[in-house]
Amino acid sequence: MINQGRVVQEFLELVQIDSASGQERLLTDALKSRLTALGLEVVEDNAGAAIGGNSGNLIARLPGTLKNVPTVAFAAHLDRVTPGFGIKPRIKDGVIYSDGTTILAADDVAGIVQMLEAVRVLKEQNVEHGDVELLFTISEEAGLKGAKNLDRSLVKADAAYFLDGGGDVGTIIPSAPAQRKITVTVNGVPAHAGIEPEKGISAIVVVADAITRMNLGRIDEETTCNIGTIKGGVATNIVPAEVTLLCEVRSRNEGKLATQVDHMVGEFEAAAKRFGVTADITVEESYPAMNLSEDDQAVQLVVEAVKALGLSPVLTPTGGGSDANILVGKGLPSVILGIGMEKVHSKEEFISIKQLVAGAELVVAIVKQAAKA
Ligand SMILES: [Zn+2]
Repeated sequence: MINQGRVVQEFLELVQIDSASGQERLLTDALKSRLTALGLEVVEDNAGAAIGGNSGNLIARLPGTLKNVPTVAFAAHLDRVTPGFGIKPRIKDGVIYSDGTTILAADDVAGIVQMLEAVRVLKEQNVEHGDVELLFTISEEAGLKGAKNLDRSLVKADAAYFLDGGGDVGTIIPSAPAQRKITVTVNGVPAHAGIEPEKGISAIVVVADAITRMNLGRIDEETTCNIGTIKGGVATNIVPAEVTLLCEVRSRNEGKLATQVDHMVGEFEAAAKRFGVTADITVEESYPAMNLSEDDQAVQLVVEAVKALGLSPVLTPTGGGSDANILVGKGLPSVILGIGMEKVHSKEEFISIKQLVAGAELVVAIVKQAAKA
């Protein structure tokens, strides 16, 4: 069904087209011409202009041969982490690597290639299917900026599958935590540390007092938090007047997330009050939670598709955030799928040809399953 030689050839070609966060133009143009040649309708949104990049998100549509079946979307991102320019792929024993000086960019070219091959197979095999949408996002690695600025009206799908997960094909990730960032600046009172320290109020002592009263790290099975950086003070002879901390809280449960954020903010405020100083605290949403359950249709559909390929579905949550979180926040039920890439974000990154092909098979199987729904 899948043309393995064609998949591998396309993968090798696309990883050799340079692309980076905000600098996806070359790859975007290459995909536009491939998608158009395959007969898809292709639209580029204005997200690039919004974030100062040279390319927008691409949304491609393969009109269905069937009506009244769910529209499914598949998504992958166009950008890569560094060092990602001048990739020279090498094949050894059925596995594709870089030459060791760069990443391979299977993250996320593998997902892109799996989508393109699936479309070719749907056409060649005259598979009956509903509408299929392909979404290619920019600047995922630089803070999910493409997804955040996506023109949501261009996506009509009932569910989306993000081909951007670790683990072998068959790995299904239906849930991921929400994240909040907390920035705290405590304003103490400076004084000469040797001459009149009693006139000062140490901002470092204030935050230390707050932190020792906090629950941090692993809070429960679905909630974590961390104080990641602390900066403040000028010299040993000055009572420190200002300290700034950056903290994060993650949870797959929005209620627990809010409780932990309130706990930390409350302890900082209480400590500031005890010492008679002020604290400036801001809480920002980095991304919302993804929390589909096994019973959701979007998950059931992929579970059945994986089984249809003779593979065993492995449902697992992730602790990270990705484009899928953003699309869930925009009301699109989303699932992340393992695509067989390994050691991503490193020069040792690799993917086996077997997994590359299996991912394309899974895309076809999901489209077939949706046609039965
Ligand atoms: Zn990725």
